[in-house]
Amino acid sequence: MANFNIDAKKDVTYDAIVIGSGISGGWAAKELCEKGLKTLVLERGKIVEHVVDYPTMNLDPWDMELRGGLTPEQKEKHYKAIRSGWIGTDTEHFWADDEANPYTEEKPFLWLRGHQMGGKSLLWGKQTYRWSDLDFEANAKDGHGVDWPIRYKDIEPWYTYVEKFAGISGEALGLPQLPDSHFLPPMELNCVEKHIKSRIEKQFKGRNMTIGRVAHLTQPHNGRGQCQYRNRCSRGCPFGAYFSSNSTTLPAANATGNLTIRPFSIVQSVIYDDQKGKATGVRIIDAETNEDIEYSAKIIFVNASALSTTQILMNSKSNRFENGLGNDSGELGHNLMDHTYRVGALGKVEGFDDKYYKGRRPNGIYIPRYVNIDEASKSDKFVRGFGYQGGAHRGGNAANTESFGAEYKDSILKPGPWEFFITGFAECLPYHENKITLNTDVLDKWGQPTLTIDAEFKENEKALNKQIQEDAVEMLEATGVKDVLGFDNEHPPGYGVHEMGTARMGRDPKTSVLNGFNQVHAAKNVFVTDGACMTSSSCVNPSLTYMALTARAADHAVSELKKQNL
Ligand SMILES: Cc1cc2nc3c(=O)[nH]c(=O)nc-3n(C[C@H](O)[C@H](O)[C@H](O)COP(=O)(O)OP(=O)(O)OC[C@H]3O[C@@H](n4cnc5c(N)ncnc54)[C@H](O)[C@@H]3O)c2cc1C
Ligand code: SF4
Repeated sequence: MANFNIDAKKDVTYDAIVIGSGISGGWAAKELCEKGLKTLVLERGKIVEHVVDYPTMNLDPWDMELRGGLTPEQKEKHYKAIRSGWIGTDTEHFWADDEANPYTEEKPFLWLRGHQMGGKSLLWGKQTYRWSDLDFEANAKDGHGVDWPIRYKDIEPWYTYVEKFAGISGEALGLPQLPDSHFLPPMELNCVEKHIKSRIEKQFKGRNMTIGRVAHLTQPHNGRGQCQYRNRCSRGCPFGAYFSSNSTTLPAANATGNLTIRPFSIVQSVIYDDQKGKATGVRIIDAETNEDIEYSAKIIFVNASALSTTQILMNSKSNRFENGLGNDSGELGHNLMDHTYRVGALGKVEGFDDKYYKGRRPNGIYIPRYVNIDEASKSDKFVRGFGYQGGAHRGGNAANTESFGAEYKDSILKPGPWEFFITGFAECLPYHENKITLNTDVLDKWGQPTLTIDAEFKENEKALNKQIQEDAVEMLEATGVKDVLGFDNEHPPGYGVHEMGTARMGRDPKTSVLNGFNQVHAAKNVFVTDGACMTSSSCVNPSLTYMALTARAADHAVSELKKQNL
């Protein structure tokens, strides 16, 4: 590997170990390396070097086998993940192998994983929103779950910090329920979106429509290039125009000279020393040779993505922690949440036939939460809320015409009618009984216990979904959209790909796994800063919050190390 130091063989002792190199692990690596710590990143998948390892980034459909469709072998390899509808030949190499890494669904749950350097940061949709005190205070106010140990003021400087480095484009709205980020210029709404925005804002008091806030560069930023509106992002971007670990945080970590990244390193467990009362390192299995190796460090950041992180902690058994590292509360593995998704409405928009748009904008519209934000917007049907994503485009093509010959050829050159859709993302409550457990009967390719996932949406989420659909239909009809069709795909959890909550933060070690700085209550040199740490789920996309929590925790870790508290 040309640009990264992957030679972890010479040295088995580091200042810090980071498990996983996805969105949160990349940030941990950058922050710890920049603060001078010799840091080992252990990544279970292959190295994916920015640009060099994006084999499909410039391919057209006709350059790919089956025009981008999956072969029967690929379908088998991804037999669970294909339910998402997102996998094609162009991105297949960035999705985890379901056959080698099985899991058991007690109830339907889609667990989407990216097992390579960069994790799901290569595949994500880049929608990027701050949480507010409406979110951080929600559990305390309505009594679901436990109280967050932090408030918006604790994380606000860290949102600013990560946004300035990552580059987030969007429009400032000044809404208390959706605080503004430090924005690069917003992408533009197209003509139909502008039209519908003005109608919604005029007819529905308190509702706003804006362009999505996204981790895309709308101007050159920190040495990375501007987005070219190709919408081929999940193949890797040659311009580095969207935020990924590969394009952004890992190169920064590498530039310090303090980074070692070891690919094909499946972390099996964290080693806890009963005498010292802290973790001393981790055990890995080399994915290629099956060799068992131990690495030691003063601090350990577990960033393998929510469920894998929890799996590692549950696997980390010792005399002190018979039920998994940090599991004094019995909450490890519980309170699994995701957002509901693919509920909304769509329809056709008449007029604007002489208008089109440029390029393939990798973004859509956003309608921020407007229910349960104050007394006036309070619902008696459910707690918490939802926001909508969606957009307008020109659909239709020759496939739906009945013509032949010249008429047919002519028809495929003309854009079809305008279509508009919105789909809601609703908050899921933290239910203790929504959980994952270790399954010692089903082992993975390396003989390790796998996960059983037992989670479902309940009455509150169903009531939110009902409202999402009703409001979506009402808004589209009121704004003049034709042939409006409400839909609810009734997806089980997992389809939102915002799984979180299985090692939650809290004020009380009796009811939570982590403290207010993401440290395991009873093993303070172990930090968990991916989705596992989340105490509630908000209704907005969560990854920006993982980034901010990670940078904040890394800062705390280094300051505690200097004080010799860890
Ligand atoms: C199609 C799609 C669209 C999405 N859109 C959005 C969006 O618009 N906005 C948003 O906020 N979020 C979005 N997400 C979710 C987002 O990708 C995740 O929230 C984010 O990547 C989580 O970061 P992470 O660091 O926890 O995990 P990941 O990015 O998944 O990284 C985890 C890393 O850990 C490694 N790992 C796992 N187990 C081990 C082990 N035992 N040992 C060593 N390494 C291990 C993995 O290989 C991986 O590299 C989307 C996800 C998908 C798939
Ligand atoms: S749309 Fe922008 S970020 Fe996505 S691949 Fe194209 S240039 Fe890169």
